[in-house]
Amino acid sequence: MNNAPSTQRSISSSSDVRVLRRPSRRILVTGGAGFLGSHLCERLLAEGHQVLCLDSFATGHTRNISHLLRNPAFTLVRHDVVEPFAAEVDEIYNLACPASPPDYQADPVHTTKTNVLGALNLLELAKQRNIKIFQASTSEVYGDPHVHPQPESYWGNVNPIGPRSCYDEGKRCAETLFFDYHRRYGVEIKVVRIFNTYGPRMRPEDGRVVSNFIVQALKGDDITIYGDGSQTRSFCFVDDLIDGFVRLMNAPKSVTGPVNLGNPGEFTIGELARQVIDLTGSRSKIVNLALPIDDPRQRRPDIAIAARDLDWQPKVPLAEGLKETIRYFDRLLTLECQDLAE
Ligand code: NAD
Ligand code: UDP
Repeated sequence: MNNAPSTQRSISSSSDVRVLRRPSRRILVTGGAGFLGSHLCERLLAEGHQVLCLDSFATGHTRNISHLLRNPAFTLVRHDVVEPFAAEVDEIYNLACPASPPDYQADPVHTTKTNVLGALNLLELAKQRNIKIFQASTSEVYGDPHVHPQPESYWGNVNPIGPRSCYDEGKRCAETLFFDYHRRYGVEIKVVRIFNTYGPRMRPEDGRVVSNFIVQALKGDDITIYGDGSQTRSFCFVDDLIDGFVRLMNAPKSVTGPVNLGNPGEFTIGELARQVIDLTGSRSKIVNLALPIDDPRQRRPDIAIAARDLDWQPKVPLAEGLKETIRYFDRLLTLECQDLAE
């Protein structure tokens, strides 16, 4: 997908060295034009930092960051993390990677490269500059878990050769690299394992369950439950998650993670579908489709470590977060209809 903005400022090629001369911290956010990355960029700018947003626009979108392009503290670079990158920054948040199963399975080899080579390239940058680096890992490192809820000490149950493996094993290998750079070279690391997070700026077509159900409900299309809908997930609202990111990055050096961030409220996918129908007042009907291969049966974070080390817990209940997300998609779909009509 080519979503680069025509009004893009300060674009560098992969070999450029960016120099940001301002007093506050200079922070590199990879995947900054994506769902979570754009919220993180916004939060860091609000705290007075300089943000260098790096994105390949594989799954990111200009509408997520267009309002930031006028901010002189914000710089956008189009780059693929598979290639090395140099920048004079003080901290790195590595979020670059498609997160939705259809997205990361569309080019699985590139997904593995993004996770593994991306981590390697950014860890090298952190090592060279002696700066701390944050990794967006995932609850997928637990695979289809035999331990419930999942504490960080659980090593997981992951298929190494299935269609989800490019993501799951890629993220596991990235964690390995982070801890080896920490032990071998003393790089300061912050590794977070994110559980399903939703909110405004998910792509309507990205295929994840919350965006799918809301868009289907708003359009009056069938709500597509994969399998019988008894599988569970725990859904965290984006603002809660971003707060956890910043707390982890600013925690003492000894707090490396991995630390689970997610909302321990656990819902079946059938319950989620019914909530979305209720909140939208939709007349959509539910249809059951085939369950994807290796779809995890259950997911719920044990967040005791986040509570202890970061004094963090999610605040936004599912119904509240869904209402805000529904408002976002409602506006977006209305705008898309207007664009089509013009
Ligand atoms: P997203 O797909 O909306 O955003 C990912 C961003 O990374 C996009 O802007 C995309 O263009 C960019 N990107 C992808 N490959 C790249 C590459 N090779 N080089 C440079 N940029 C690249 O997904 P998201 O939900 O915002 O997820 C962000 C991060 O959080 C990902 O690393 C994902 O694995 C992790 N995560 C997210 C969730 C969640 O529920 N949202 C759960 C677990 C982990
Ligand atoms: N899912 C579903 N209908 C959809 C999209 C997803 O029933 O339209 C299911 C999917 O099979 C999984 C759960 O919802 O059991 C969460 O899927 P998602 O892709 O959002 O995240 P992940 O599987 O990575 O947790």
